[in-house]
Amino acid sequence: MPSYTFCSTANAFVLQGAVPVFVDVRPDTMNIDETKIEAAITDRTRVICVVHYAGIACEMDTVMDIARRHGLLVVEDAAQGVMASYKGRALGSIGDFGCYSFHETKNYSMGEGGAVLVNHPELIEKAETIREKGTNRSRFLRGQVDKYTWVEYGSSYLPSDINAAHLLAQLEMAEEINRDRLASWHYYEEGLAPLRDEGRLRFLEPPAECAHNAHMFAIRLKDLEERTALTAFLRERDIVVSFHYVPLHSSPAGRKFGRFHGENVYTDRESDRLTRLPMYYGLSRTEQDQVIDAIFDFFGQRR
Ligand SMILES: *Cc1c(COP(=O)(O)O)cnc(C)c1O
Repeated sequence: MPSYTFCSTANAFVLQGAVPVFVDVRPDTMNIDETKIEAAITDRTRVICVVHYAGIACEMDTVMDIARRHGLLVVEDAAQGVMASYKGRALGSIGDFGCYSFHETKNYSMGEGGAVLVNHPELIEKAETIREKGTNRSRFLRGQVDKYTWVEYGSSYLPSDINAAHLLAQLEMAEEINRDRLASWHYYEEGLAPLRDEGRLRFLEPPAECAHNAHMFAIRLKDLEERTALTAFLRERDIVVSFHYVPLHSSPAGRKFGRFHGENVYTDRESDRLTRLPMYYGLSRTEQDQVIDAIFDFFGQRR
C-alpha cells in the first residue's frame, strides 16, 4: 500500500495481524507507483491495497495483472472514489474488495460510515454476517431461516437508519452533486492555470482513462516553507486550506507496524508541498474567485 494515505487504510490490515509494506507514489496522481509494487512482493505478501487518491484511479490494469501473476488479492481503498471510474468501471468494483467512505469529509456523507464492495458472490453472505455481529440476521430478514443466531465472529458495523436516510438523499442526487463538484474543480484549474504554466504550482494530473469525481482540488507549492507561508497568507483572508497526509511510514504507529520498501522519492517530498483548496457541493464562483485572487496575490501577481 502507499504510505501517502489515511491511517484507516493501514489499520484495516494491522487489526488482522498483517504488516503494511509501503510503496512510493507517482508524482502526477499521488497514487501508488504501480511500477514499484512488484519489487516489494515477498512470499508472505497477501494483498495489494491501492488508494484512489482524490478519486483519481490507480493504474488498475497493471495492478490486477501483477496480483494475478503473484496470486494476490487486490483491495481498493475507494474512500474518496464514489462516482469515479477507471476505463468506465466504478472505482471499488475492479479488485477483489473495495471500500467506500461516507465520512463527513467525503463527497457523499452520512457523518460516519462506509460500504464494502465484495467482488466474490460466495463471500457476500460472510460479509453480511460479520457486519451483523456475527449473526445470520440477514438470512432471517430474507426469510431464509426462521430464527437468527450467532454463527461467526463479527461486530456491529451497520449504520443506523437515520444516518442511512441522510446518505440516501445525497445518493439520489449523486449525478448533480458530481457535476457541481466537477464544475468547481475545472474553475480552479482554469483560474490557476497561468500559475501552473509558469511552474509556480502543480495540480494533480488525472490520466485520460480516469474519470474523477472532484473529491479535492490539490495544489503543490515549491516546498514545505512556501506551503506554510501560503497557508498563513490565506488564513489571514479567512480562507482555510488543509494539507495531508503525514506519510504513514514516518508516523509512530507506522514505524511500529509497517515498513517502507524501496526508495522514497516522492512520498515525503510531494506530501510536504501539497495543500487542498476549499471544495464542497454548492461552492460558489464568487468564493472560488476569492481563493484564486488570493493565490495570485501571494505570488505578487495580478490575475
Ligand atoms: C476518509 C478515508 C478513509 C477512512 O474512511 P472512514 O470512513 O473514516 O473509515 C480511508 N482511506 C482514505 C484514503 C480516506 O480518504
